[in-house]
Amino acid sequence: MNLSDYFKAYNLSEEYISDFEKFRKYLLQYNKKTNITRIEDENEFNVKHFLDSLSLFKIGLIKNDSKILDLGTGGGFPGIPLKLYNRDLDITLVDSLNKRIKFLESVIEEFALKNIRPIHGRAEEMARDENFRESFDIVTSRAVARLSTLSEYCLPFTKVGGYFIAMKGPEAAEELKEGKRAINILGGQVEDLVEIKLPLEITHYLLIIKKINMTDKKYPRAGGKPKNKPL
Ligand code: SAH
Repeated sequence: MNLSDYFKAYNLSEEYISDFEKFRKYLLQYNKKTNITRIEDENEFNVKHFLDSLSLFKIGLIKNDSKILDLGTGGGFPGIPLKLYNRDLDITLVDSLNKRIKFLESVIEEFALKNIRPIHGRAEEMARDENFRESFDIVTSRAVARLSTLSEYCLPFTKVGGYFIAMKGPEAAEELKEGKRAINILGGQVEDLVEIKLPLEITHYLLIIKKINMTDKKYPRAGGKPKNKPL
């Protein structure tokens, strides 16, 4: 199926579909000189990068005025598809690899996107900055770390009353068992685990965590601790 068929099948508006096609081509061209993604097949790209990212709209938590953080965005997933789909969203893209941030800067210029900013930084440091701490309605992240570690990266950025949405693969339920303690310590409360069925027989999960209490100032811990000694 082509992208238009997929958008129809998933009840997605095709208003900006030409920008999605253009973005895929732009990324794959850039990928020839700078490694951004290993997914080069068109169909696989459409499913794993576009439909998967857009599945975030299914849960009804993203509003037009939501301030969203995509932590460890890499080539812009899920943040760029969210923005291409809804130009009203305010999106911050963070990654610790500067070559990916440079790529995203070029995308934003090429597609004339507003209210979206790529920032080169590490979660552990940025989350301590008052400008970012507890200031996002929605914090999301895909393929960055296991849930216990990821929660320590993401929940400090999430506003009380906002949501951390972890995009997870088949091991979601197991990661949740292992990560529950960390989520509670960091001020989160697990609300739901939503199964997302995609083409190519792919099943993914959106793990929805509500931020109910402020995160203690001692988190995230420095020196690689969230990763090496998860809560
Ligand atoms: N979210 C994208 C990229 C996943 S690869 C996708 O799903 O396609 C993981 C990315 O997270 C890499 O680009 C890496 O540089 C970034 N990353 C890993 N740890 C990080 C941290 N602590 N802070 C910020 N970015 C991080």
